[in-house]
Amino acid sequence: MPTRDYQALDRAHYLHPFTDFKALGEEGSRIIERAEGVYIHDAEGNRILDGMAGLWCVNLGYGREELVAAATEQMRQLPYYNSFFKTAHPPAIRLAETLCRLAPAHLNHVFFTGSGSEANDTVLRMVRRYWALKGRPEKQWVIGRHNAYHGSTVAGVSLGGMASMHAQGGPRVPKIAHVRQPYWFQEGRPAGQDPEAFGRECALALEVKIQELGEEQVAAFIAEPVQGAGGAIIPPASYWPAVKAVLARYDILLVVDEVICGFGRLGEWFGSVHYDLEPDLMPIAKGLSSGYLPIGGVLVGDRVAETLIEEGGEFFHGFTYSGHPVCAAVAQRNLELLEAEGVVERVRDEIGPYLARRWKALEAHPLVGEARSLGLIGALELVDPESGERFDESLGVGTLCRDLCFAGGLVMRSVGDTMIISPPLVISPAEIDELIEKAHRALDATLAWLADTTTDHQEECLP
Ligand code: PMP
Repeated sequence: MPTRDYQALDRAHYLHPFTDFKALGEEGSRIIERAEGVYIHDAEGNRILDGMAGLWCVNLGYGREELVAAATEQMRQLPYYNSFFKTAHPPAIRLAETLCRLAPAHLNHVFFTGSGSEANDTVLRMVRRYWALKGRPEKQWVIGRHNAYHGSTVAGVSLGGMASMHAQGGPRVPKIAHVRQPYWFQEGRPAGQDPEAFGRECALALEVKIQELGEEQVAAFIAEPVQGAGGAIIPPASYWPAVKAVLARYDILLVVDEVICGFGRLGEWFGSVHYDLEPDLMPIAKGLSSGYLPIGGVLVGDRVAETLIEEGGEFFHGFTYSGHPVCAAVAQRNLELLEAEGVVERVRDEIGPYLARRWKALEAHPLVGEARSLGLIGALELVDPESGERFDESLGVGTLCRDLCFAGGLVMRSVGDTMIISPPLVISPAEIDELIEKAHRALDATLAWLADTTTDHQEECLP
């Protein structure tokens, strides 16, 4: 079917996630038809380097026949059965065991979900249930961070700190507070603050909030090791040690959202390992199956698991697709491949450091105020070359740069004027060179567009 026919049907019937429906209808969507390795192909025959691994999830890259085979075999054997009502099946049991072996030692149980959002809904119900079982039902407040993303369900939106999401959909789940994010470039740098002092100040904000709410009312703190959707925000080195020190002074659960950072993104199996955190609960999804099928879960630490098991009775919570056998079989095979091929170690020791060197060099570009990366996640902060300050957001420089990237054969996402990459973990050095070259060209094109003040010509330059 020709692209324009797909676009017409798309416009007529399909409401896309995180999309201005009307604007997209007018523009028409790009139709992606197939993919292999680190490349996606659109219906027009363009081959595009996927610098975002889909949506931060295709860790093993596209086209892995082993995952196709795992799904096919499992579909033939047992396409569906649930694990309600005292039943289970081998794929989910095996996956639970594998996850607990790979996770830090004190995490020995898992609750399966269909997505990261459902994982965070589970987290919210579980932490409040835990404290109720401990005889402290008043401990209900959960503290998250501004600009955090924890999903799109009502609990996910409430735990997250995205102002644009909070503004839609009516009242949120009560008793969720937010504290400042450790985003030095945006919040520390303009004030001329030293990054490490800024990191400590952000941790202090958590302590202030705990005291304000009263420790006896606070159930948990939730955060990503590195904030992904918020802008690939890598906290200053001082931040996590200072947060750990705060948490050590209070009896509050730590929830580390590993939906993006888990499964090798930061060069360890979990971001918690990189930052030496001991989470009580760890929501996971995305890279768990390399995005081939939808599956998520919550890894549960011994302290919470023992209470839920020994004192809890029935936990009235679960999803039709919790531990879906086909998704579990694919996730299991995905983890086996990540292990057998040493993918995570390669991110830490080889390809992560390689990306870091090449990425950092983009700071020499006049549009780039900061280039940061850790493992295989990275961000560029776009700034006005004249002033070194951020552009007026309404100019849409980040969106322009993103569109120019796409037109030049690279998927790089924009969050405001922050450009983000999170490529498949199997990306080669030559493919990183290609990514950098394409990013450089898109930056040059963005700069050229900005330099040309005649609107007519600017429109001509648009892809
Ligand atoms: N937590 C984090 C940190 C995420 O990045 C996301 C998705 N981008 C989610 C939760 C929600 O996951 P899902 O889209 O699978 O519901």
